[in-house]
Amino acid sequence: MDHFIYKAGVLHAEGIAITEIAAAVGSPFYVYSTATLQRHYQVFDDALKGMDHLICYAMKANSNQAVLKVMADMGAGMDVVSGGEYARAIAAGVSPEKIVFSGVGKTAEEMEMALQGGIRQFNVESEPELLVLSAVATRLGKLANITLRVNPDVDAKTHAKIATGKSDNKFGIPMAKARAAYAQAASLSGINVVGIDVHIGSQLTDLEPYEIAFSKVAELTEQLRADGHTISRLDLGGGLGIPYQRSNTAPPLPMEYGEVIRRTVGHLGCEIEIEPGRLIAGNAGLMVASVIYVKQGAERKFLIIDAAMNDLIRPAMYEAYHDIIPVNEPALAAEPEPIDIVGPVCESGDTFAKQRLMPSLKPDDLVAFRSAGAYGAVMASEYNSRPLIPEVLVSGDQFAVVRPRPTYAEMISRDRLPPWML
Ligand SMILES: *Cc1c(COP(=O)(O)O)cnc(C)c1O
Repeated sequence: MDHFIYKAGVLHAEGIAITEIAAAVGSPFYVYSTATLQRHYQVFDDALKGMDHLICYAMKANSNQAVLKVMADMGAGMDVVSGGEYARAIAAGVSPEKIVFSGVGKTAEEMEMALQGGIRQFNVESEPELLVLSAVATRLGKLANITLRVNPDVDAKTHAKIATGKSDNKFGIPMAKARAAYAQAASLSGINVVGIDVHIGSQLTDLEPYEIAFSKVAELTEQLRADGHTISRLDLGGGLGIPYQRSNTAPPLPMEYGEVIRRTVGHLGCEIEIEPGRLIAGNAGLMVASVIYVKQGAERKFLIIDAAMNDLIRPAMYEAYHDIIPVNEPALAAEPEPIDIVGPVCESGDTFAKQRLMPSLKPDDLVAFRSAGAYGAVMASEYNSRPLIPEVLVSGDQFAVVRPRPTYAEMISRDRLPPWML
C-alpha cells in the first residue's frame, strides 16, 4: 500500500498534487512519500514483534539524506556497502552501533573508516577479507565484530542479475567451508565473532527460498555453538519483493516473512537483523515525466517522454516492469491503445515499455512511473549529458526538494582541463 492516489482526477502524493510539484520543480523528477516509507518500516517492525530485532535499512535502494533521516527517526539501523554509504548514514545521524557493513569488496580504507567511526558489525564475505580486517583492526587497536556471510546455495527464483545465494554467485562463503572459516576467524586478533549473515537475493516473490536458507542457518548456528563460538546475532539479509505490476499476484507479506523467521530461527535466542531495501523504498516513490512527442512509426506508435534510461535504468538493465499511469486520471470511457514508451537517449535500449496499453496522451501531459523509489535515483547517471533529475519528499501537505536538479554549468564544472590545455 502507498500514498499515491487520484484525488479529484489528479494523482497526489499524500496531500500534494503531482501537478503542483511539477509546476514548482519542472519535469522529470522523483517524488517520495514519507508516510509510505514509515508504513513499510512499521510493517517489518510489527512482523518481528516478540523477537529481539534490528531493521537495518539497505540504503543502496535509496540513499538520499532525507530518506535516511525518515528511517533513522523511526529507529532503523542501516546496511551499508561502501565507505560512501557509511559516510551518508553517519551524516544522516544514524548511530554507528546500528550500522552493519556488507559487500564482497570492502577495502582496508573502508574498514578503517568504519572502525574509527564506530560500527555494529562487518558482514565478512571471504577468508582474504577476514585477514585484511584482522590486520586493520589489530593495527588500530580495535576489536571488529563480525558475522560471516554464508552462501546457502539456494535458488531465489528471481532475476539472474539480483540472485546472490547460489553457489556460482560471487557472494558469501560456501556452507561446507563455514566451520573452517569460523575456526580461522576465532583464531585471529582484532576479530570478535558475533553471528551469521545470509542474503540470497532481491525481489523474491516466494518464501520457500527463505525457508530453506534460514533453516540451513539454524543448523549452522547449532554446529558453530557446539564448536565453541558465540552466535548471538543472525543477519538474515533483505530481498523481499514488491508488486511492480498491480494486475499480478502480490508477493508474500512481511508478516508471512516474519513467520518464516520465527519458525526457522526463532528458537535460537539470537538477536535478529534484517536488511530490507526495496520493500521499504520501492513503492514509496514515483518518477514523474512529461510527454515530448507522440510519434507514429512505420509499425507502432511511440510515446517519447523527457525521462530516459539514465534516470531509471531498471527496465533497460533487468527488463523490469513499471506501472506507468497518467497524472491526470483518464476518463472511464477512454479506450487505451498499445504504445511504446521511450526516452530521448540514443539507444534502442532506452525503452521503458513496449506495446503498453495507455490512454491517449499529448505533449506536456505528465505520466508517473510507480514503484520507482528503490534502485531509481541511486542508479541514475548523466549519460547523454542529462543532469541528474531532482528528488522531492512529501509529508502530508508539505513538499521539499531534497536534491536539486544541477544546472548545465554545475554539471560541466565537475570536469577539469589539464594544465597543458590552459
Ligand atoms: C541489496 C542488499 C540488500 C537489500 O535487498 P532488497 O532487495 O532491496 O531488500 C540487503 N542486504 C544485502 C547484503 C544486499 O546486498
